[in-house]
Amino acid sequence: MIAGLLHKFYDIIQEAVFPPKCLVCEAFYRIPLHYRGGISDDAGPDETAGPLSVQAQAAISLATCLCPDCLAELATVESPLCICCGLPFNSRQDQDHYCGACLGSGQEFGIARAPLVYDRIVTKLIHCFKYKGKIQLARPLGELLLTAFNRFWDINTIDMILPVPLHSSRLRRRGFNQASLLIRNWYRIADRHFCDLSHIRIADDLLIRSMPTAPQSALGRVQRRRNIQSAFGLGGKEQIGGKKILLIDDVYTTGATVSECSRLLLNGGARQVDVLTLARAV
Ligand SMILES: [Zn+2]
Ligand SMILES: [Zn+2]
Repeated sequence: MIAGLLHKFYDIIQEAVFPPKCLVCEAFYRIPLHYRGGISDDAGPDETAGPLSVQAQAAISLATCLCPDCLAELATVESPLCICCGLPFNSRQDQDHYCGACLGSGQEFGIARAPLVYDRIVTKLIHCFKYKGKIQLARPLGELLLTAFNRFWDINTIDMILPVPLHSSRLRRRGFNQASLLIRNWYRIADRHFCDLSHIRIADDLLIRSMPTAPQSALGRVQRRRNIQSAFGLGGKEQIGGKKILLIDDVYTTGATVSECSRLLLNGGARQVDVLTLARAV
């Protein structure tokens, strides 16, 4: 009790002397009182209060990185959305239904979901995380991703989680795989979010990037698909047979990367492949 009070007092002094700086607009700001402790180890959601909206969870997870103005501008993925690829629709009235692309040619994966829309704020946030050395963002972003997993899936239906891999040359250059980093803390923080991950294996050695490819961000839809074809391989085919797999990546843009991974895993014997990304281009 006294230790807790001292800890809070220390946080208040620390914040007064070194106020946090927003990663997007670079303004100094004060963390709103009701968001303090949102990602501390001894604080968590209230189980009796029911699930939070994606917007509320995003605000709690990201209050230490974004100022209140940027937080308010953050767009989250809300229904109505495509039942398959998770694309949010403009009309707020409708129910979830299939988008034209999923109705037409279908998708390799089962469902794809993301908590955030890949808009200006999220683009900058992910850029800070991947290219500007702000790897401390892995913790709040990873927490938000875990709550999205818990919201959109029955966790018992997934056996294995695989991050989309980077080629070894890019991994060496960047120093980390962003998808692996996002889920690194999941076992540790699962209890606080009332998730039981004990039956799930997180494996980052089963899916391999066997060929270096040009960055997808510079390419159009058709070029992305061509660029990524045959870029992946399987590290342990016998281990994915019959498994229900969740693929993790940072951004879903055209779906070319996760589709290629899904195709490979399903051909290798996986029973089902779903996709969870932090952000979704719209
Ligand atoms: Zn800001
Ligand atoms: Zn769709």
